[in-house]
This record gives sequence, C-alpha cells and structure tokens, in this order.
Amino acid sequence: MIEKEVIIIGAGLAGSEAAWQVANFGVPVKLVEMRPLKSTPAHHTGEFGELVCSNSFGALSPDRAAGLLQQELRVFNSLIVNKADEFSVPAGGALAVDRSKFSSALTEVLSNHPLIEIKRFEQLDFPSKENITILATGPLTSDELSYKIQDFTGIDACHFFDAASPIIYGDTIDQEIVFKASRYDKGDPAYLNCPMDKNNYIQFRNELIKGEQAILKDFEKESAKFFEACLPIEEIARRGVDTMRFGPLKSIGLWNPKWGDLYDKENRIKKRPHAIVQLRKEDLEGKLLNMVGFQTNLKWSEQKRIFRMIPGLKNAEFVRFGVMHRNTFLESPKLLLPTLQFMKRENLFAAGQLTGTEGYAAAAAGGLLAGINASLLAKGKKTVSFPSESMIGSLMNFISNRNKIMSNQKKSKFQPMPASFGLVPELNNRIKDKRLRYKAYQERSTEALNGFKKILDSYFEKDHTLLEIY
Ligand SMILES: Cc1cc2nc3c(=O)[nH]c(=O)nc-3n(C[C@H](O)[C@H](O)[C@H](O)COP(=O)(O)OP(=O)(O)OC[C@H]3O[C@@H](n4cnc5c(N)ncnc54)[C@H](O)[C@@H]3O)c2cc1C
Repeated sequence: MIEKEVIIIGAGLAGSEAAWQVANFGVPVKLVEMRPLKSTPAHHTGEFGELVCSNSFGALSPDRAAGLLQQELRVFNSLIVNKADEFSVPAGGALAVDRSKFSSALTEVLSNHPLIEIKRFEQLDFPSKENITILATGPLTSDELSYKIQDFTGIDACHFFDAASPIIYGDTIDQEIVFKASRYDKGDPAYLNCPMDKNNYIQFRNELIKGEQAILKDFEKESAKFFEACLPIEEIARRGVDTMRFGPLKSIGLWNPKWGDLYDKENRIKKRPHAIVQLRKEDLEGKLLNMVGFQTNLKWSEQKRIFRMIPGLKNAEFVRFGVMHRNTFLESPKLLLPTLQFMKRENLFAAGQLTGTEGYAAAAAGGLLAGINASLLAKGKKTVSFPSESMIGSLMNFISNRNKIMSNQKKSKFQPMPASFGLVPELNNRIKDKRLRYKAYQERSTEALNGFKKILDSYFEKDHTLLEIY
C-alpha cells in the first residue's frame, strides 16, 4: 500500500518527535523548518529541537509529574527523551542535557532517516486541505503563519501573549484560613478566599514591590506594551498603597459565615478583612487553583517566597508559576479533539506549545500523539487518544476538554498547562500520603499504558516494520 505523506511544520521538540513517530510507522514525512533561513527571536541555531532557555526537562523520578511524563514517553520510543537520556548531564534529581549535543543528534537522526525529507523554508500559507498536516510551530510561530492560523480558527481562538497567574495544588492550602464564597453570594461559591488583615497586606505589598523581576527579552517588551489591560500584580501594587485593594484584592461582598452576622453593621465593620486574595478552580474537582489577577513578571523563586506570605498559602505548592511572555497558543478546548485533530478538519493536527501545553517533555508528548494519529490516518485507520490514567492522556484531555471549562470560566481565557498530578483522575481509594499517592498514580499509568500499547501495536501490526528495529 502506498502511504500518504504527512507534512509537519516546525522542527522543534514537538515537530521532531512527530516526524520520528510517523517515519517509524513507515509513513513518508516532509518536515518543514524555517531556521536557519529565518530565525525566531529566541532561537540561535538551525538545529532541530533547540532548547531556547533552560536545559532541563524537569524532575527525573517517575513519582514526580515531569518524571512520569518522561517515563511514559520512553515506553513509546520517544526520540526526544531517548536523546535527552543519551546526552544528559548531572543535574541533581532532574533530567538536564548538553543542549548542543542533544540538538545536533536530533538533527542528524532525522536528516538521515530514509522516510524523512527535510525542507528549509518559512511556511507562509495555511496547510492545504488535501494533505495530512501537523502544525508544530511553537510559541514563536512566525507572524505570517500566525495570522493564517487566526483566520482559520477565529479571532478569539488564538493568543499571542501569555499573561498567566500562578496555579497551585488545591490540597496544599490551609482550609482553616481559606473560605469558600462568591461575591455578594451570587451564584455558586466557586471561589476560595484568603483574607488579609492590614498588617498582612502592608507586609505583602512591601515585598511585592521589592521582588526581583524576571528579565523580559526585547521582543517580549514590545508585546508587553500592548498588554496594559493585564498589568502584573507587582505593577498594580506599585501604583499606590490601596490600588490592589480596589482591584484584584478587593474584599467587599465576601463574607465568611464563621465571622458571625453579615447584617450586623458593627460586626461587619469589625470583621471585614482589609483585602482578599481569590482562588478560582481550574478543574471541576478543585485540585488546581488559579490565583485570580496574579499575572506577574516576578522571578519564580520570588513568587514562591512572596505568595506564601498570603494567609492560607504558607505551604502552597505551585503547579505553574505566573508568567508574562510572548506565546502563540490556541484556545484548544474550543478547537481540538483529545487526538489533537482539529474539530473542523480531521486531517489537520496541532502539537506542542501551540496547543497550550507547557514544557519541553509536554511538547514532545504532543508530537508523539499527533505523530501516531497522523500515521493511523495515513493508513486509513481510526485515530486514538491516550488513556486518561496516563500523564500524556491527562494533559491532552485537559487542553482539549470543553467540559473542563468551568461555567464561571467561560469568559476567562484558557491558560497553558504543564504536566501535573492535579490533572490525573482521582484514585478509587484516596491515599493521604503524597509520596504514596504519586507512586500509585505511576503504577496506574504503567498498567493503563501497557494495555494501550498492545492495542496500538495491533492497529499497526501488518505494516508496522521499522519500529522494531529500534
Ligand atoms: C523565550 C522562551 C523561553 C522558554 N523557556 C523554557 C524553559 O526554560 N523550559 C521549558 O520547558 N520551556 C520553555 N519554553 C517553552 C518552550 O518553547 C517549549 O517548551 C518548547 O520548545 C515547545 O516546543 P514546540 O515544539 O512546541 O516549539 P519550538 O520548540 O519553538 O519549535 C517550533 C519550531 O517551529 C519553527 N517555525 C515557526 N514558525 C514557522 C513557520 N512559519 N515555518 C516553518 N517553521 C516555523 C521554529 O523555528 C521552531 O523550530 C520557552 C519558550 C520561550 C518562547
């Protein structure tokens, strides 16, 4: 049978992984990369899978979210993780790599693969309907293509700048201090509230305005100028002692029944907190909480130090820190299926940071899934989604699942997400000890993926030859 060709645009982490998977399933690939002819503002070389910032893929141990994701990728013969293992450098408990050897090795393997044709040009047009295509152009997708993607998806479905608040694990907040309530009791009490007295507030503000800032790249400074509507919390704090209290930290209309009668004016004046930080559920169960209005440009270590001063957040653990940087990504829950196919066009896939996943290994995971499914489609077979018990499946479900958008979030924008245990379904028997719980997640994932791999192998059985070589 003559296989249809798969076109992959972008040879970053997602595109490189996708190309490897498709070619190894025996399907010809055309891999289009614009570097070095045209670079992005963050890349420096023409090599594939260049790591633009840190050289770390996160924690190595499979009882951590990043480590589990890497382990799952190994099961499916991931090129990115295999090369990261091969060129790893000592980094405590993390998987860090020699970035130059890592990218050179990826480039060499893909360039020498008999089924991969490399094309170096900037893709300017939106992919044609005739070809199976994977869009993997990443957070710095070139302008021309970004506009075409925007035309295809709709204006509101494509973001160009990421100004995101931190997300924390729901089970790390102090339930004795934090209380559930919505402003003026309207609707469901979907928010959790951290009340601050005047002393807390003043100390918190002092640290916030002194906090060390992350350095914005020149191209990010330009984008940030257009983002006045979404000021960093430290900038709001700088504008005046009470500015935060009249903005995201306003306490009016929020009342904890524990404080007594709301309608007794004296009691109300005496007990009303000076300010309140609100936390909004990111998922239905409230395992992940978003700090409302806390988009920030503070360094991550500073965010951890300063935000833990907020009453109720002393032991908070962060799934994701706040960021403000250039980031092209899709409003995936409105556009994509868990198979990474566009709802509007089944032979068009998206993968990597463009879909709203965050992190190097998560980009590889998207490439792996899109690669598997593009191959299945090329062979005239049904596409698949990963089991939700796995980290890959949970992440892909999160970015593509409309139901995960809470009713109170309909107006707020979808925010990119890294691998996290807050995304995986609860265990049948809840385990209190965190280490043991994470270990149980890991075991459950291994079992689910073993079954899934067998099914997948049977789909490819007849024509699946090359994968066995590796
Ligand atoms: C400044 C910056 C710093 C970051 N730091 C980190 C970090 O420290 N750790 C981390 O985990 N993540 C970091 N990220 C996120 C990181 O980009 C992703 O984790 C990962 O690189 C995404 O992989 P990707 O394959 O989706 O995109 P990329 O790796 O960016 O790959 C996309 C590829 O598409 C190409 N391309 C773009 N447009 C076109 C076009 N029109 N035609 C042809 N080719 C095109 C690009 O040249 C690039 O090679 C950072 C992102 C940025 C922007």
